[in-house]
Amino acid sequence: MSKALRYLCPFCEAEVAVGKPCPGCSKKAKNSKPAKKSWEQDSSSEGLDLPSADFDYDDFIAREFGEASHHKTGLKWYWWLLAIAVLSAFVYRIFG
Ligand SMILES: [Zn+2]
Repeated sequence: MSKALRYLCPFCEAEVAVGKPCPGCSKKAKNSKPAKKSWEQDSSSEGLDLPSADFDYDDFIAREFGEASHHKTGLKWYWWLLAIAVLSAFVYRIFG
């Protein structure tokens, strides 16, 4: 066999010899940071996926749902009303 089998890399579409690393992808891998284990991530990446203590829920909703954010206001209003109704009923039972 004089010619090695070659295939197109599905990721970068470079021609790669079978059994050898893709030149395009291996170059990319060298330039990027070495992959860390999920439990070895540094503190700067913490809170990237999980909500942090100062997580802004309203901002998150606005970003996630964009134009639909007005639903948030209605829901909030509804829950405030419910909270006030429950609280006033509770207070009325104690003091009333
Ligand atoms: Zn590749």
